[in-house]
Amino acid sequence: MTVRTRIAPSPTGDPHVGTAYIALFNLCYAKQHGGKFVLRIEDTDQSRSTPESEQAIFDSLRWLGLDWDEGPDVGGNLGPYRQSERKDIYKKYVDQLLEAGHAFKCYRTPEELDALRAERKASGINTAIKPEDLKLDDKIVAEREAANTPYVVRMNVPTDGICEVEDLLRGKIELDWSMVDAQILMKSDGMPTYHLANVVDDHLMEITHVIRGEEWINSAPKHILLYQYFGWQAPVLCHLPLLRNTDKTKLSKRKNPTSILYYQRMGYMAEALTNYLGRMGWSMPDESEKFSLQEMLDNFDIKRVSLGGPIFDVEKLRWLNSLWIREDLDDEALAERMVKWALNQDNMMKVIPHVKQRIETFSDFLPMVAFLAAGKLELTEADFTANKLSLEDQKKALQFALWKLEALQEWNRDQLFNTLKSLADEMSLKIKDFLAPLFVAISGTTASFSVMDAMELLGSDMSRARLREAIEVLGGAGKKVLKRYEKEFAQLGKSPEGEAVE
Ligand code: GLU
Repeated sequence: MTVRTRIAPSPTGDPHVGTAYIALFNLCYAKQHGGKFVLRIEDTDQSRSTPESEQAIFDSLRWLGLDWDEGPDVGGNLGPYRQSERKDIYKKYVDQLLEAGHAFKCYRTPEELDALRAERKASGINTAIKPEDLKLDDKIVAEREAANTPYVVRMNVPTDGICEVEDLLRGKIELDWSMVDAQILMKSDGMPTYHLANVVDDHLMEITHVIRGEEWINSAPKHILLYQYFGWQAPVLCHLPLLRNTDKTKLSKRKNPTSILYYQRMGYMAEALTNYLGRMGWSMPDESEKFSLQEMLDNFDIKRVSLGGPIFDVEKLRWLNSLWIREDLDDEALAERMVKWALNQDNMMKVIPHVKQRIETFSDFLPMVAFLAAGKLELTEADFTANKLSLEDQKKALQFALWKLEALQEWNRDQLFNTLKSLADEMSLKIKDFLAPLFVAISGTTASFSVMDAMELLGSDMSRARLREAIEVLGGAGKKVLKRYEKEFAQLGKSPEGEAVE
């Protein structure tokens, strides 16, 4: 048997360090067994998937040295490797399940589902929704069928009992069937859901080991059942511990930069980041902290993964990076890296149009763009005092902007402008006054070029990190303040009667 592992990221937003972490362990496992590592793009959620995001996954994983043997961009015998190109395949398998009675068409409307949920809630039922809960009168079904009413396909699941999941690291895990709902397998638009597409693809792509984050453990019963329904051998399952913030909560962009692009932009060495991800729950036999990807590959043993939640601590990563700079780059190599990192032609061409009108001599250039290359800006409260709004209101504006920007799916000048302009309107602030603290937070001064352009150039994680830092400089937003802000934020755009304002 050839070992085949895979990662299956969804191309939404920025490429996540968690994706790289899972990729690293899959790559190591496959290579250690002389196997293959596959990259599959799970883009069934077409409203959120973007080609830019897909490209960013390719670029950032390659930057980290995590190359794949098969994938949408490199080909392979078991493709296509992009789920949006496999729609017909899933249809065939859904039909098979329907025919065998393992799945059923569900004609419940969203309103009827809401009503069902409300009813169950009122009666204190908190188990999962089962096929029998969803049953409609035969007559209604026949009517809806005849009228070509949209439907979803759901899987049949047992009502109760225990599902045993065998995990490579955890051994036997017992999960309760009563908590597993009649999962939708195909949406009304004919697109499969994650669960169906994932199982079908892992089977057809001959994946032998599914190594993924522990947030998927609860999905394992559905997957195992699907393998049984199809009569297929299930792959070995292995759930890696989730990366955590320093406060032990799940790593989230609200607390920590999570985008690989952020770390690239901050000037971390790819070798150091890969090394650090290898330290997440895993250690070398001699416990050494610094090791190359090759050394990890040579010494890999998945059994050395420890299940305690690994903390992704940026300070530690910084320290490790400094070792890499000192020990692995001679002066010439460091100079080369610097040029490649910041002063390359591509970067220059992005920046020059913004500064050309503003510089009189070349020597004006570096000071004007230094904020783009800087990691953290050394701000103090005094940097904000010249702005029109009170410091308190500036802090609030920054926090509200941060929340809006966290929800933004596309990071470009127009999106940023529209979002921030409507926020300023909702807060009844003049755009100029509203943007002033953002200017300082992003570029360290109000005398820079457009803050929207600057944010686009900096990227989403770096921009958000700067807003977070500025909020800290202004005294931070403790629990109480946040509560108050959240309330106010939730009221934005609503008239006093609670109606949305047109
Ligand atoms: N598309 C899922 C994700 O985004 C894949 C999970 C899995 O590996 O099964 O993480």
